Amino acid sequence: MIVKPKIRGFICTTAHPEGCKALVKSEIDYVKSQSHAEGFKKVLVIGASMGYGLASRITAAYSFGAATLGVIFDKPANGSRTASAGWYNTAAFEEFAKADGLYAKSVNGDAYSQGIKDKVIDIIKNDLGKVDLVVYSLAAPRRTMADGTVYSSVLKTVGEPYTNKTIDLKNNTVSDITVEPATEDEIQATVKVMGGEDWAEWIKALKAADAIEDNAVTVAYSYIGPEITHPMYADGSIGKAKDHLFETAKAITNADDGIKAYISVNKALVTQSSAAIPIVPLYISILYKVMKEQGVHEGCIGQMCRLFNTKLTRNYAETDEPCRIRMDDREMADNVQTAVNTLWSDISTENLPTHADLEGYNDDFYKLFGFNVPSIDYEKDVDL
Ligand code: NAD
Repeated sequence: MIVKPKIRGFICTTAHPEGCKALVKSEIDYVKSQSHAEGFKKVLVIGASMGYGLASRITAAYSFGAATLGVIFDKPANGSRTASAGWYNTAAFEEFAKADGLYAKSVNGDAYSQGIKDKVIDIIKNDLGKVDLVVYSLAAPRRTMADGTVYSSVLKTVGEPYTNKTIDLKNNTVSDITVEPATEDEIQATVKVMGGEDWAEWIKALKAADAIEDNAVTVAYSYIGPEITHPMYADGSIGKAKDHLFETAKAITNADDGIKAYISVNKALVTQSSAAIPIVPLYISILYKVMKEQGVHEGCIGQMCRLFNTKLTRNYAETDEPCRIRMDDREMADNVQTAVNTLWSDISTENLPTHADLEGYNDDFYKLFGFNVPSIDYEKDVDL
């Protein structure tokens, strides 16, 4: 079948198998080209099929030769419907890893459920014994509890409405948007979905089954960003969930059984999750322009390769005062933020092409789904 992108709102409903495979291969090649620290050897990645989780998995496998077990929540192809990009990424990763003699298995199902936790733990016990690194990289819109209750996360402010500029990527226009405050129930639901409760449950289940090393490390990802995004992000409903994630890290470490939990504050990048946040895509497209011009831009793989090779290794973690790993160091550098602020205050539909890297933003967005890869002939039939 010939596969073309079909955009619906913030997502693309099709994915290209060959494009996804080529992009996974280029991330692998990037990691192979970098220098490597003494790293983790048996790695569980929860949320392993896209974005930061996929990049963490590729880094562990190709920096350290680690065995990786990935938890994904993806759809296989069905008739003329393509699989999800995460499904293709995972199939491609497993194929490359196996060809390179690396252990790689994946479990496709809801990471929040006890059934998937049990299945993963069985595989660890049978195949790996124990894991020494657990990456928690879920970005989910909802969580279904054991009793069937469904919590949905929202991307809203807390307290006051917030008005600022946003971009409509359908027609590349800049306009003002007002984001309304979340209700108390919505905030609590967002914390249930994106906070640390499920992360703690994973660590508890792994410990109870003796499937995690005594001195293992676990890391989850967060974002802080500049003030213009704070009402939407750091101080918004998602920020409340990230605060809970940080408290969970402290609780896991303070349990004093040797397992250390960290929050890595990562850079803002185009992923399926960030594309859905109002205001943030406009900020990201300005940030891309500035960071590319200053020669400090990184994608997910650059971030994760630097994280696990320089800031979070088997015996070392570089943290700031509240004990977070700052992978957003280059994004938050004064010269980057000053340049972003100057462009932000002046940006409009008319000067969008000179003030923002829209092309880079769109290119990354299409690539999430395996499109815009120069080596792929998109007019050719592919096996879904
Ligand atoms: P993403 O959308 O690219 O990936 C999310 C992953 O979670 C996918 O592999 C998806 O399949 C998986 N997933 C979702 N629901 C699941 C479920 N129920 N069970 C199993 N797997 C499930 O997201 P991302 O941007 O890489 O985000 C990962 C983490 O990084 C999040 O905590 C996010 O807040 C954080 N982060 C993102 C950015 C950014 O700009 N994108 C910046 C800093 C931190």
